[in-house]
Amino acid sequence: MSRPTILLNPGPVTLSERVRTALAREDLCHREPEFAALTRELRAGLCQVYDGARGFEAVLLTGSGTAAVEAMVASLVPRAGRALVVANGVYGERIAAMLAAQGKAHDVVAAEWTAPVDLASVRRHLAAGERTTHVVTVHHETTTGRLNDLAALGALCREHGRPLLVDAVSSFGGEALELATWGVEAVAATANKCLHGVPGIAFVLARSEALEGCAGNAPGVYLDLARYRSQAQSGFSPYTQAVHVCYALAEALAELADAGGWHARHERYRALSDRIGSALAELGVEPLLPPGTSSSMLRAYRLPAGTSYDALHDDLKRAGFVIYAGQGGLAPSIFRVATMGDLRDDDVERLLGAFAEALRP
Ligand SMILES: *Cc1c(COP(=O)(O)O)cnc(C)c1O
Repeated sequence: MSRPTILLNPGPVTLSERVRTALAREDLCHREPEFAALTRELRAGLCQVYDGARGFEAVLLTGSGTAAVEAMVASLVPRAGRALVVANGVYGERIAAMLAAQGKAHDVVAAEWTAPVDLASVRRHLAAGERTTHVVTVHHETTTGRLNDLAALGALCREHGRPLLVDAVSSFGGEALELATWGVEAVAATANKCLHGVPGIAFVLARSEALEGCAGNAPGVYLDLARYRSQAQSGFSPYTQAVHVCYALAEALAELADAGGWHARHERYRALSDRIGSALAELGVEPLLPPGTSSSMLRAYRLPAGTSYDALHDDLKRAGFVIYAGQGGLAPSIFRVATMGDLRDDDVERLLGAFAEALRP
């Protein structure tokens, strides 16, 4: 069977036929019991992706991953609170922009995009500042593909008794998330990255107590998790949800469980990323980050001298693959390759052939 164009961008992903077919199920009114049952199934399923989610609840909202991150900080950081944003890339900086737009007090501990998060500064900050009420960070910083050390950051937060809010948009379902051990209060994520669903539904997985106490925190209406939670127990939502996208997410969660859960997906991502990384190394392409610091599902590579991103992108697209550009200051010098989605071994072999062709001196 001929293959669709394969997406190697970090979401949305190439869908499996199983998930795509789920989109065509019957139409549902979001106020009918059939939809409530689907919502309850999804809320339970999202809490089952990781062990250690006891005491957590999922709140679903229709929107992209950014909506879930914005809802998390809008709803869980109190108006009189003060957040410490621990950033080392575009997505950490976006969290600071959200807090600024919401008019919430915050401080930022920013590291270079190519550096690890600055734990020494976080430690100093938490030790000195009584005022920080919440710490917010990004698990997998998709800007560079770095997997941030949440275990160490979580330990610092626990030591200082501060709740940790995590943008896990590009890691949920593909990397370890030790919610209990790391003292995580909430994570925000989306259907269409490591869960292999369709874009349109995002979610926040949060401790029930945090959700119980969050009414009145959000400066807006649509992203107020308290409003969702008050109806979610019965399976409903205050606003229209992306019903067909919910079908696809339910199917994607079933597919994840059938394939061995997040551990198996993580191993698969890593094997594919390693295979691509070593083939690119043979072509003289260097990774941006040192070995052992990238996530399983995304690697950033330096563009070889004399190769423009656009030319490489277009050559690969003609061969049936979409790679991803760098952001901000990294745009002229890197490209990114994600291994999420329905990516098959023979797709990867074809990809490596296409890279060899495109990068031929
Ligand atoms: C993709 C991504 C987002 C934003 O997701 P959208 O679905 O594009 O809104 C946020 N954070 C991280 C870490 C991401 O990778």
